[in-house]
Amino acid sequence: MSQRMKPAQKKHRMRRGRLTSIFDRLNDRYFEGELPPVYVKQDFRYDSGVEGWLDPKALTIHLSKRLVGADVERVILHEMIHLKTGGDHDDAFWSELHRLAKVGAPMAQVELTDFKAELNELRRRRRRLHARRSPA
Ligand SMILES: [Zn+2]
Repeated sequence: MSQRMKPAQKKHRMRRGRLTSIFDRLNDRYFEGELPPVYVKQDFRYDSGVEGWLDPKALTIHLSKRLVGADVERVILHEMIHLKTGGDHDDAFWSELHRLAKVGAPMAQVELTDFKAELNELRRRRRRLHARRSPA
């Protein structure tokens, strides 16, 4: 995704809301403005237990209404990585998260810590499974 924003899109940006302008700011700061303009809404009618999700077809990021403060930016950034890498929590997602942490995105650092804990737990479980399967 290397196409710069066209003037029409820039004009479009002027009418975007508070949450969406957080997206625009993060896009400029960490992605050189190269992500397509996405709407950010905090409008969950029900609590599904997820912090946020990206609807790539509607170019919309939905945030849980429970999110406040720095968590809002953290989850928007997380969904922006999905938008850029176009997959799940795969290798591309990870390397992008690492890149953002390296360039000083504090919310990427928090994500990385969370994911590391999750990954370590997965590895522990896999090791246990493997140990059980190994012949004595
Ligand atoms: Zn995710």
